[in-house]
Amino acid sequence: MEGLGHAYGDVKAVNSFSLSVAPGEVVCLLGPSGCGKTTVLRLAAGLEKVQQGRIAINGQEVAGPGVWVPPEDRNVGLVFQDFALFPHLTVAQNVDFGLTGMDDEERRARCDEVLRRVGVAQLADRYPHALSGGQQQRVALARALAPSPPLILLDEPFSGLDSRLRDQVRDRTLHLLKRSGQATLMVTHDAEEAMFMADRIAVMRDGHNVQTDRPDALYCEPADAFVTEFFSDVNRLSGVVEKGDVYTPFGNLSAAPMRDGEKAEILIRPEALRLGAVPDGEEGSARVLASRMLGRSSLVHLCTCRQIGEEIHLHARVPGRFLPKENEVLQVTLDSKQAFVFPANQG
Ligand code: ATP
Repeated sequence: MEGLGHAYGDVKAVNSFSLSVAPGEVVCLLGPSGCGKTTVLRLAAGLEKVQQGRIAINGQEVAGPGVWVPPEDRNVGLVFQDFALFPHLTVAQNVDFGLTGMDDEERRARCDEVLRRVGVAQLADRYPHALSGGQQQRVALARALAPSPPLILLDEPFSGLDSRLRDQVRDRTLHLLKRSGQATLMVTHDAEEAMFMADRIAVMRDGHNVQTDRPDALYCEPADAFVTEFFSDVNRLSGVVEKGDVYTPFGNLSAAPMRDGEKAEILIRPEALRLGAVPDGEEGSARVLASRMLGRSSLVHLCTCRQIGEEIHLHARVPGRFLPKENEVLQVTLDSKQAFVFPANQG
């Protein structure tokens, strides 16, 4: 997809959007509600006509100036949020529906193989109304995979499932997609889901991609405050650049490439705050307001001590069980790799 632009009347839904997905790669489109994710997917599928830019699948241009290949000729597999199975067809007939250019025996064999692969072969003769949500999702995936299209498009494919089932279904879907070797583009608004599923994530905002990279790179080297906050809670401080640094109560951070005198915002992930006992003869830097174990980690609510400046409320996340008492004073140090400095008012 190159330089895509699309508007619904006055609403600009997609703007200068470019992305490529390689065979065998899972790419997630991630962003807040209304940022244009579904529109990108619909453009790729041919359900919307491209107004600007071009799209090619497997090297063949399918949309662009003077070019228009209709959805049924694009050879893409689609899985919608509500699965959209044909209610009057059985599971096997749903999967068989998109198989063309094969004789009856080949179709039957392909259908059996795909149903077995997604683990619903025993449900082949059932109708969609007699399936659970998880089973419907698997049938929808089987239907999309059956014709071996070069591209699979998934629009929030797990959002209709309850949370425990969702984890299982995600896991199975990821392995199926990776094994099938097709290019996959999936829409989600859930950062954790995108990190679980994706080889790369395209973070979208107001119709364009802000940053496209591997999940670990987005988390550890976010391009701006929007991307930083999309992946976790953050402690937000403000400051002014002095001698190339910004001040925080727990140590200075480099503000490069910002200039002295520029206003900065400082985003500190909760796991960047390291908590320890106050060494003899020193004063601590923060007081505990509350501590709670949240399962795999503990969350400690802190307030910076008055002697180090204005009181600031902060969250620290510590692996495992770490529950200091209310009002205990601690020494806080900062892991600068998980703290980010950006120009203020970047939006
Ligand atoms: P969500 O996560 O809520 O599904 P999204 O990121 O997928 O959102 P889109 O559905 O692509 O966003 O919508 C992008 C913008 O285009 C939104 O402002 C939306 O209101 C608008 N929009 C989408 N479809 C139409 C339509 N058919 N007619 C008019 N406006 C539309």
